[in-house]
Amino acid sequence: MKMFQVICDECGATKKETNHWWKVYVTRDACLAISPYSEVVVGKDVCGQACASKAVSRWLATGFLDSPALRGAAYADEIEAENWEKRAIGAD
Ligand SMILES: [Zn+2]
Repeated sequence: MKMFQVICDECGATKKETNHWWKVYVTRDACLAISPYSEVVVGKDVCGQACASKAVSRWLATGFLDSPALRGAAYADEIEAENWEKRAIGAD
């Protein structure tokens, strides 16, 4: 019995035993690699072809494998801080 949950880094789906998941990762040679899901491979967990394609597309376009949710959270904090400053400046 597994004591932890594996969550898709793209869509947030929870891995079940029968799912065909993938690991997406960047090698030491800076190549993008995709392998069948393995707990010993360090990389992004993706739940299937659609989410693997999203990760590949993002890496090709931006050079990042980070999920939009993770990067979005950091970005949202920056935007919120910026908006707060604008409101503070415009408040008087
Ligand atoms: Zn997914």
